[in-house]
Amino acid sequence: MSVDIRTAVVPDSILAGWQQTVDLVSEIASIPAVLIIRDQGEELQVFVASDNQTNPFSKGSHDVRGSLCQAFVRHENPLHVADIAQHPEWQACLAEMHGMVSYYGLPLYWPCGQVFGTICILDSRENNYADNIRSLLARFQKTIEADLDSMARQARLEAANEVLTQLHERQQQELTELRGQLSKEVDNRASMAQTLEYVQRYDALTGLPNRAALLSHMEHILAVNTNQQFAVLYIGLQNFKTINDSYGYLVGDQILQTVSDRLRHDLAGNFYVARVTGNEFVVLLVTSRIEELTVRLANRLSHSLNQPLVIDQQNITVPIKMGLAMSPADGPDASTLLKKAGAAMNLGKVSGSAYTFFTDSMQLALDERCRLESHLVDALKNNEFSLHFQPLIATESRKLLGAEALLRWFNPVLGQVRPDQFISLAERNGQINDIGNFVLRTAIEQISNWYRLYKYPMRMAVNISPVQFRDTGLVRYVADLLAEFQLPPSMLELEITEGVLMQDEYQATRVINALKRIGVGVSLDDFGTGYASLSYLQKYAFDTLKIDRGFIAHLDNSEQDRELARAIIAMAKKLKLNVIAEGIETQEQNDFILEEGCDCGQGYLYGRPVPALEFAASHLETQTFAIDDEQMAIA
Ligand code: C2E
Ligand code: CA
Ligand code: CA
Repeated sequence: MSVDIRTAVVPDSILAGWQQTVDLVSEIASIPAVLIIRDQGEELQVFVASDNQTNPFSKGSHDVRGSLCQAFVRHENPLHVADIAQHPEWQACLAEMHGMVSYYGLPLYWPCGQVFGTICILDSRENNYADNIRSLLARFQKTIEADLDSMARQARLEAANEVLTQLHERQQQELTELRGQLSKEVDNRASMAQTLEYVQRYDALTGLPNRAALLSHMEHILAVNTNQQFAVLYIGLQNFKTINDSYGYLVGDQILQTVSDRLRHDLAGNFYVARVTGNEFVVLLVTSRIEELTVRLANRLSHSLNQPLVIDQQNITVPIKMGLAMSPADGPDASTLLKKAGAAMNLGKVSGSAYTFFTDSMQLALDERCRLESHLVDALKNNEFSLHFQPLIATESRKLLGAEALLRWFNPVLGQVRPDQFISLAERNGQINDIGNFVLRTAIEQISNWYRLYKYPMRMAVNISPVQFRDTGLVRYVADLLAEFQLPPSMLELEITEGVLMQDEYQATRVINALKRIGVGVSLDDFGTGYASLSYLQKYAFDTLKIDRGFIAHLDNSEQDRELARAIIAMAKKLKLNVIAEGIETQEQNDFILEEGCDCGQGYLYGRPVPALEFAASHLETQTFAIDDEQMAIA
């Protein structure tokens, strides 16, 4: 910040003071001219002149170069010339002195050391200027320099202020620009936030609202009216993982898109449709005629969604299941209602009605399931699982043909939990793969130990869950275990249920054939329960058929069941399959199946499932070691 002080304007207030000063000096000293002359570089100016008649100089006159020579004014020290005429050195100035002949002047300086000018007195006659006049002038010199000092400070302040003002203006400008950028940024962010919100709330594949959006929509409905009647219809595509595995994800995606298009097409207006998980959709129906319209809706959707989907010129039927929960009856909040609709879907029967309403008994089942699940999580880690073995007996000779490995779970809190209660849970939470691997390893290790110990050829039957069956690593895992325990593959038989076959025939054929290739037997368990189709027996390379114990239980009193059992056994024999009748509890049942030609039985009559040691004691140590043809075939 540099200020050219020489051009500084002397404020009026100071100027007035200076005027008073020169007037005062002029009066006190009876001197005609008292001047303050300002040096402006190029020229000198009579800046202040005493206001009396006799003063020949007038204030403001410029170009006094000639009249009052610069040497006078720019003299650094006090200068006294009593009579100019007497001094050859100053004589040149005389002509310009407007009749003045003597001069006394003191220099005036700006605080920075620059010359301001001079304060001087001039007389028309020779004058030595008395000391009191000189000291008066010196006093005024100091006063004027004090004024100059304050002016300089003021000027610096103003300059600083100017700079600050400029700075401020620049900052203001920058600020305005920044504000502009900021508002652009805010706009950008707002649009980004909108995109993010979209991504967070909508499913990318189908464009439908997702689970979070559905829940907040439901919460909004309930916030407006806690008693609002509405139905939550939970729709699940069955076997979707198998479809993805068999046809690929692209086809899976197309199926989901087609289903969402059907839902959109079928439902307009009052409905809210969301995709809540990979293969599950939810429809909300808000209406006062809830019961009547919900049933109609469920039937309509069931009809529409069960139509085969044509994808890449293939007809694919994706079975669906639906569960329903109603507000406000089934729960006070969105997530409870959604959970219950989902539970109704899962707990609903596979056969029969296309949809299932949530019920009180489902609530109990849900609570129980929660309790079990919390303990199941650590069961494997805590060694709570073990295997029991139940004998498979030759109906005629009563010889031991094999054993079925049956999983047991003993939990310190829950006690003994039946497999029916926890297997489906483990299937749902994905634990079944680890648990199933434990069963396979333990059973294979057990049978190989027995074989080494007793040299008794028998087969070990192991139940395989549909979830495990879908695991592409199953065949490899089994082959590795057989190698590890050096067990002849024919001593192992895997039991699968019809569910596996219904879900995905292509995958089932592949796995069954792969198991056959490594020499492992495959049996069809619980035959006759579900949609039992005899055609399955021709289609797949089974070794054994197990007639469900439901048939056997009613042999005594149901002619129909007797006929069915007879037909199944005959058919299986024709197809050269081993047949095992499950659940043989009585001698009569044993006699019936024996008569019909069923080779093998399993049931309490022959032996209950028991731990390995007990099994060995009751069934292996008592065996005669004469091995008959039937057993040779197995070994
Ligand atoms: P399942 O494969 O049909 O097994 C036979 C079931 O019938 C066993 O029940 C057995 O104890 C029972 N049982 C045997 N003989 C008789 C009889 O004479 N009368 C009656 N009333 N019941 C008899 P458990 O052990 O409770 O197993 C039930 C189901 O749990 C099994 O049915 C099977 O589907 C499943 N399961 C058992 N262990 C495993 C396993 O390791 N893995 C898988 N995935 N499922 C298993
Ligand atoms: Ca079984
Ligand atoms: Ca069975």
